[in-house]
Amino acid sequence: MPPAHRSTLDLAARLGVHADRCNVVGTRELSPSLREIVLHGDPRLVGEPGRDVMVRVRDGERATRRRYSVRWADASTHRFGLWVSVAHEGPGSTWAREAVEGQHVDVVGPRGKIGLAAGAPWHLFVGDLTALAAAYRLAESIETPGRAIFVLEIPDDADAVTAAFDPGLGVTGIFVDRRDRSASDPTGLVSALTAVELPPGDGHAYVFAEAGVARALRAALAARGLPEAAISHKSYWRAGRHNADNGEPERD
Ligand SMILES: Cc1cc2nc3c(=O)[nH]c(=O)nc-3n(C[C@H](O)[C@H](O)[C@H](O)COP(=O)(O)OP(=O)(O)OC[C@H]3O[C@@H](n4cnc5c(N)ncnc54)[C@H](O)[C@@H]3O)c2cc1C
Repeated sequence: MPPAHRSTLDLAARLGVHADRCNVVGTRELSPSLREIVLHGDPRLVGEPGRDVMVRVRDGERATRRRYSVRWADASTHRFGLWVSVAHEGPGSTWAREAVEGQHVDVVGPRGKIGLAAGAPWHLFVGDLTALAAAYRLAESIETPGRAIFVLEIPDDADAVTAAFDPGLGVTGIFVDRRDRSASDPTGLVSALTAVELPPGDGHAYVFAEAGVARALRAALAARGLPEAAISHKSYWRAGRHNADNGEPERD
């Protein structure tokens, strides 16, 4: 296989992380809006639960990069899986929709800073479909007995993709039906957050969502009494705008 593109190697060197040209070794339709892409490559790319990777994708005549959380990783086979939302039009979703076994893709990682707040008595994961990979991998890393609560908005009933957890983990899952609301309307998730029963103790919340929705969710969590230090949050995309070439939504 040819080595990764020079710009990929330079980027990884600048960020102090790893780069590899990975092979697509599998794909799977998880739901109408979510596709799993299985990559084979340097196992150092994936990092701890909560981390993501940057993939180099085509954007017309040019290249750009998009970030996707690692859903699972198997160090023994050097394989890892990404769960990519494919229900909108963009260079990243096009790559994921069209990915087939045998293709390669430049990957840089691990990226990101959010990890599990070890020791918290409960963990609350809130967001849209793009949050599933990070939320489920983080929840899988909770030491049992522990507690995971998911409040996730989905565009379609068939997108309620679940995961199997250690039986020692107490799990509550709430899927919020988006109905005819837009993906940047926070009202569904905010009202679910207002209603959800939170266990006693100083838990930790994780918010992965569209930029405006993430802002509203942080405010809703603060209103539930969570201090800022107990909320890890990351804007994953911005309504009506392409993410930038570094894979991040542009700032206001
Ligand atoms: C750290 C990090 C981790 C991420 N992890 C994941 C992950 O595990 N799985 C995942 O699917 N995404 C994840 N994302 C989000 C993903 O990178 C963005 O959704 C990205 O915009 C997709 O690129 P694109 O080329 O498909 O669309 P872009 O070119 O960025 O945008 C094109 C258009 O589509 C809209 N759009 C972008 N994303 C969505 C969406 N999800 N739903 C509806 N409309 C959208 C934009 O507003 C724009 O109008 C992550 C982002 C970050 C920063």
